[in-house]
Amino acid sequence: MTEFDVDVLVVGAGTTGLTVALQAHALGARVRIVERRSVPFRASRATVMHPRTLELLRPLGVTDALLARGDASPSARLHLKTQVVPVSIEQLDLPGTEFPHLLLIRQADAEAVLAAALAERGVIVERGTELVRLARLRHGGARALLRSGDGQADENLLCRYLVGCDGAASLVRRSVGGWLGGDFAEDAVIADLELGPPLPPAPPVTLEPEVVHVVVGRRGLVILFNRGERATWRMLATHRAGAVREPFGQPAPPVPAEELQRLLDESGLPTHVDAVAWSARVRLQHRIASRFSRGPLFIAGDAAHVHSPAGAQGMNAGIHDAVNLGWKLAFAAGAARRATGRAEEPPAPTGPAVPAGPAGASGPAAQARSPLLDSYAQERRPADLAVLRLTRLMHWAEAGSHPFAQLARAVLVPAAAPLLPWLTRQRRLTTAGVRTLAQFWLRYPTSVLSVDVRASLVPVRGALARRGLRPGSRVADTLVRCDGRRVRAHELMATPGVHVFLQAGAREMPERLRGPFVHVHRLDDRPGTGMLVVRPDGYAAVRAPVLDERALEAWLRLVGLADG
Ligand SMILES: Cc1cc2nc3c(=O)[nH]c(=O)nc-3n(C[C@H](O)[C@H](O)[C@H](O)COP(=O)(O)OP(=O)(O)OC[C@H]3O[C@@H](n4cnc5c(N)ncnc54)[C@H](O)[C@@H]3O)c2cc1C
Repeated sequence: MTEFDVDVLVVGAGTTGLTVALQAHALGARVRIVERRSVPFRASRATVMHPRTLELLRPLGVTDALLARGDASPSARLHLKTQVVPVSIEQLDLPGTEFPHLLLIRQADAEAVLAAALAERGVIVERGTELVRLARLRHGGARALLRSGDGQADENLLCRYLVGCDGAASLVRRSVGGWLGGDFAEDAVIADLELGPPLPPAPPVTLEPEVVHVVVGRRGLVILFNRGERATWRMLATHRAGAVREPFGQPAPPVPAEELQRLLDESGLPTHVDAVAWSARVRLQHRIASRFSRGPLFIAGDAAHVHSPAGAQGMNAGIHDAVNLGWKLAFAAGAARRATGRAEEPPAPTGPAVPAGPAGASGPAAQARSPLLDSYAQERRPADLAVLRLTRLMHWAEAGSHPFAQLARAVLVPAAAPLLPWLTRQRRLTTAGVRTLAQFWLRYPTSVLSVDVRASLVPVRGALARRGLRPGSRVADTLVRCDGRRVRAHELMATPGVHVFLQAGAREMPERLRGPFVHVHRLDDRPGTGMLVVRPDGYAAVRAPVLDERALEAWLRLVGLADG
């Protein structure tokens, strides 16, 4: 039987890899995380974190630190030719969440918070260490060849699972599946700038500093906000790609100051580039891997799908992947370790001692399919494909160089300008937009992990399980009464693990079904006898009109938390 050095090897310490490592470790896995870059800092690309992402990260204990580093009440101005329209995004009308706002946070800050949380738990990111080769092992697990820049000998590591969070040019993906999609005809331009008032004869206007300025121009969006890393202002824009383009994964070339000034002039923003501290031109693509996993290998984040920045989705979708995968790997590894332990015990007189654990198996049983681990690709690939389609559409509208797109931006948007102040005041409209972009609607109803027990016979009552809350849905952050106190559901779910909510009249949960990663909450104010089981990533899993021991035990076995 293979002796693994580690349960989970995470390759890449961007936001995706750090989140996988944090969650897998929080749920009992032995984790290592390696990162090719020797220094933590690199210029941020992502700057917007969605409210649902904050909810997903909450059980990992990092949201307070993220909120402290970011701006949770950003305000924006939409510039349309001569008009400036304020857009109210400070407080969104988002009921049922602790985070009814966008968070403006630099990707580098988000990475620093996640890496610090890992370090507090004793997992240090191994920087300057690169995965150079990998192979799947015949009897389960993978072999990874790691090379560190400090001249030490290469390390051969045996891991039960290997997760490629190694970005768009992923090495791991080559061993997992194909790469489908294409390039955008536009590149992104990112720059950190010092800006001054426009040169005479233009009037000396100063841009409001604490505001995100968005210009809708014929050539695309230009965005300016004062969260630069090497200078006060960060500029984001798109630019038609030239004929010669660097291969993906190569360092992005800087953009000349004159070109940045030209982009600003074309946008009509009254400002002058005083100094360029840093700039880069980034190639954009829309691609998704044909598979998200193969045996012990998994890919997540940009390694599995790459988007246009339109809609601010890439980092958020990667974190969604990570919290979907981390707990599954941890539980599967735990089940496999227990199965290995039993196999090493003397054979029981009544029969074979090693039942193949359904969640994660080792030895020959590792070849068996694991519904738990398979559910990662089954749930996340369609979700990421939908995000990819949405961002392609948004990219076309915001930055596409197609004549129709340019005409729409040049003519239709300014024509609709008088309506915009009214439109942006329509809280419900903004809320619906943010809910869509933040993935609040995302559900996994057809997942093998979503089980509705005899729902048609006895409906489950109570706000946690009323209309719409079907297995596979996000559990809303509603107020409940538990153990005599009023508390929000997400506060109860803020501990990593599976959460079993029992209605007031439900039977006691048997001791044998409890465990360090199974938390039980009785809702005093929810009449009824039912139960709702919630996964560690906050999605409802099992709904039953009574505390159904058989269904619960079968589900816990499916996810590797019960043996048999
Ligand atoms: C202009 C722009 C703006 C954006 N804005 C937003 C936004 O506002 N919101 C949003 O959600 N997304 C945004 N994105 C997308 C977002 O930046 C990415 O989706 C996100 O960085 C993906 O994170 P990741 O951890 O999956 O990959 P990465 O951040 O690419 O991390 C991969 C890591 O793996 C390491 N690595 C690679 N190969 C190896 C190896 N063999 N061994 C060891 N380590 C390795 C790399 O060094 C790197 O640190 C934007 C993108 C662009 C281009």
